[in-house]
Amino acid sequence: MITGAGSGIGRATAVAFAEAGALVHVVDLNETKAAQVVGELKLMGSQAWAHQADVREADALQRVAQEVYSRHGRTDILVNNAGVANAGRLEQTSLEDWKWILDTNVWGVIHGVHAFVPRMIKQPGDAHIVNTASVAGLIGLPSMAPYCTSKFAVVGLSESLGVELARHGISVSAICPGIVDTNILRAGKWGETLAASKPALMDLYRKRGISPESIARDILRAVKRSRPLQVSAGAVYPALLLKRLSPRLFRSAAAFAAGRLFNGAQR
Ligand code: NAD
Repeated sequence: MITGAGSGIGRATAVAFAEAGALVHVVDLNETKAAQVVGELKLMGSQAWAHQADVREADALQRVAQEVYSRHGRTDILVNNAGVANAGRLEQTSLEDWKWILDTNVWGVIHGVHAFVPRMIKQPGDAHIVNTASVAGLIGLPSMAPYCTSKFAVVGLSESLGVELARHGISVSAICPGIVDTNILRAGKWGETLAASKPALMDLYRKRGISPESIARDILRAVKRSRPLQVSAGAVYPALLLKRLSPRLFRSAAAFAAGRLFNGAQR
């Protein structure tokens, strides 16, 4: 079961799991996209089901869990992937924007866990949970406070669950990609000062971004090896390294890079 599987990393992961022989439940807010992905998987000869669900709604994921368990009686791999992004100076970030990010990126994962994990604990055999976090869950980036807050939460939630659920044979992986060429920027919300730099940033994602297919392969490997943390940083690896070596230097470098990226809007 994969949330946010109508596009980007979720879609590529649905394809990769289907190629590996899985039966796939494709969940997305966008009903048309979910149905399109299921159509693709069926053309590949795989079995797949589409669900329209908003991960911000606890009941929606309870409904998906009921459907999955009444059909199969188990979930081998739960992928809490749906997510949204915003970029904007803190003083231009409304509480609505904070809520939108945290409701989707944090509560969406919590709702998936809440609906599925009690059932997964009761089923026989091993199982796996994948939560899509981000490199932004390991380093704090300027003009992305809500997004970083949400992704740090997903890394912490995953680590905590990984320890707690091991005795039930359930392993948990937090996935931390760097920049990935998907629809996330297009679908994201932008503060007014930074809106002008959106095309340049989208161009950077196109040119330097990792492909969603590559992240999907990393997710499969993380599941096979029960990796607690899968970091696929790509072009932003130096930032991770710098933070480890010198958090103070990281802070200056991140502010400088953001200033250049956002055409001086940070200064
Ligand atoms: P994407 O926009 O291509 O796909 C996200 C999908 O989630 C879309 O199909 C969208 O309809 C769905 N979605 C959004 N809100 C939803 C909701 N409330 N309920 C159900 N579905 C919803 O983006 P993506 O880059 O593939 O993002 C997938 C995950 O990867 C997110 O959690 C994102 O934060 C994370 N991530 C992305 C990048 C990147 O650079 N693209 C980097 C690190 C982490």
